[in-house]
Amino acid sequence: MKALRAARLFDGEQVIADPVIVIDGERIAAVGGPVPPGAEVIDLPGATLLPGLVDTHVHLAFDASDDPVAALAGRDAAETFAAMCAAGRRAVLGGVTTVRDLGDVGYLALGVRDAARTDPTLPHIVAAGVPVTTPGGHCHFLGEGVRGADVRAAVRARHERGVDVIKVMASGGNMTPGSRPELSQYTLAELRTLVEEAHGLGLPVAAHAHGTRAVLDAVEAGVDSLEHASFMTEDSVDDIPDGLLDEIAARGIVLSLTLGARPVPGAAMPPGMLARLPLLMANAARMAASGATIVVGSDAGIAPIKPHDVVRDAPAHLRQIGLTPGEALRAITSRAAAAIGLGGRKGRLAAGYDADVLAVDGDPLADAGALGRVRAVYVRGSAALNSSRSTE
Ligand SMILES: [Zn+2]
Repeated sequence: MKALRAARLFDGEQVIADPVIVIDGERIAAVGGPVPPGAEVIDLPGATLLPGLVDTHVHLAFDASDDPVAALAGRDAAETFAAMCAAGRRAVLGGVTTVRDLGDVGYLALGVRDAARTDPTLPHIVAAGVPVTTPGGHCHFLGEGVRGADVRAAVRARHERGVDVIKVMASGGNMTPGSRPELSQYTLAELRTLVEEAHGLGLPVAAHAHGTRAVLDAVEAGVDSLEHASFMTEDSVDDIPDGLLDEIAARGIVLSLTLGARPVPGAAMPPGMLARLPLLMANAARMAASGATIVVGSDAGIAPIKPHDVVRDAPAHLRQIGLTPGEALRAITSRAAAAIGLGGRKGRLAAGYDADVLAVDGDPLADAGALGRVRAVYVRGSAALNSSRSTE
């Protein structure tokens, strides 16, 4: 048994002063109460304890370099697997203890996921495997494309591989030459078939959707989360259609917003995205003000400004779109865990939950930058990092 003591604790919902977390093996035995006799006491004065952070959309196979697609193409399977493990470790050292990988190559994320079960230096991974896309479509280089009734077989094949979620590219995307984000890749009928097959097998569906038509069709088809939901047009951004956010909220569809960017010298957002940013943020603010669930799917790995622990940079963006500091932390802890099927196990510091704990210097509710000052990280009760000084 061990006990962590700090200045304050955010349990995934609310703040508790002068806390104690009692950890028994891989689980939290208690929050508060006496330290059991014989327990190892770890004092973290001035620190805040939080649930390990949860990112609902990462790519462990992309290495956050200037050209992750070319870097991936230059590696064989063993090298890619090693790079994915390194990406996972980077996430953990930044306090991100659970990630949902929404697109790998060769189903390698499933192997990393399975290795993580006995390796506390790796995050807990929810894996989609290879994304479902069209021939020549967005991220086609990760696997083969399918159309029409073949989407059913594509879902079944992924289920047999043991994926946790189906990722479908409902629209084109930004990192595939020739692909246009504003255009749909699949018809409503194809999306319906895919969702029906996935749900029949007990698998949720995460839909990458930029263009308005793709978002509308994904909602109508009954997907479980919308990734990006940028409403991008060829040269600008659409207003969100009236009533759509109410429909998304009523259906319980999660909005997984692509927020979080690390300031990196010499690296920036692509100019096209930068120009659209005010309109993207205005739409995100409308989403935040709706009744829909907002979480952060950072797309970690796709660029230098998106390292694998970048979700800890998202609260600044979340505050810009109107979330309170507490809501911003919920969006990357308790709400995110629930959104990816891990409510009851991850995203909270409470008795019975996995002992995934992040300790940072200062108070992240008063200062979003505190999440960059990692003091300690525990994965299922094991110390992945515990330094007496800031890693910043
Ligand atoms: Zn992505």
